[in-house]
Amino acid sequence: MDELSTGRISRRSLMRSGLVTAGGLTAAGALAACGSSSSSSSASTTSTVPVTNGDQALQRLLAGNQRFVQGVPVNQGRDSVRRAEVAEHQTPFAIILGCSDSRVPPEVLFDEGIGDMFLVRVAGNTAAAPALLGSIEYGAAVLHAKLLMVLGHEACGAVKATIEHVQQGAQEPGHIEAFVDPIVPAVQAVQGQPANQLTEAAIQQNVRLQVQQLSASTPLLAPLVSGGQLKVVGAEYHLTSGKVQLVT
Ligand SMILES: [Zn+2]
Repeated sequence: MDELSTGRISRRSLMRSGLVTAGGLTAAGALAACGSSSSSSSASTTSTVPVTNGDQALQRLLAGNQRFVQGVPVNQGRDSVRRAEVAEHQTPFAIILGCSDSRVPPEVLFDEGIGDMFLVRVAGNTAAAPALLGSIEYGAAVLHAKLLMVLGHEACGAVKATIEHVQQGAQEPGHIEAFVDPIVPAVQAVQGQPANQLTEAAIQQNVRLQVQQLSASTPLLAPLVSGGQLKVVGAEYHLTSGKVQLVT
């Protein structure tokens, strides 16, 4: 609840000050934090570009991923300066709906810092559960993040489990079934694929379906998307290369 409380403070503060966009504040934070970084100037410049719309947010994420892939992360916004700066309010520029997989940590693979991204992580990166959808809505409608990225990943265990569930009727113990069920439609849609391509096809289809459903989600997300205030994209992270590639 602390985070949410902080968000309310942030929104009121922004409204009072007239600073309705998150980008300026985020960029200022990145700039302040860069002083303690040993990064190259070109990489630093990327993170200081103000994020005022979804296209800019996406550009910033992909640039950060490129730095990560190349092994030259800036690691901006991870020091005490940034920590103090965002202690009273948050203005994340992007929401990531990602998998819980330990190998897919968004701040690391996008080379971002504290307060930059509003994360919703669940095995299989779906937003079927109301609390997950509500978290995304909060990031978009209250915190005014400009971009929502659904981030699947290579060799996702949740998707593999769903394929076994669909093809062999495998049952999962405990509450694991709860994250398998929302992935079933994606697996069913690509069942005609060759066996050696099925997992990859299902991973990408799952991302596409989430993008479609979230873009059309009422009452909060669809109006933001149609009004140009929120951009929704799908992407897949590749475990070996470290690359994030858009899924269309
Ligand atoms: Zn996964």
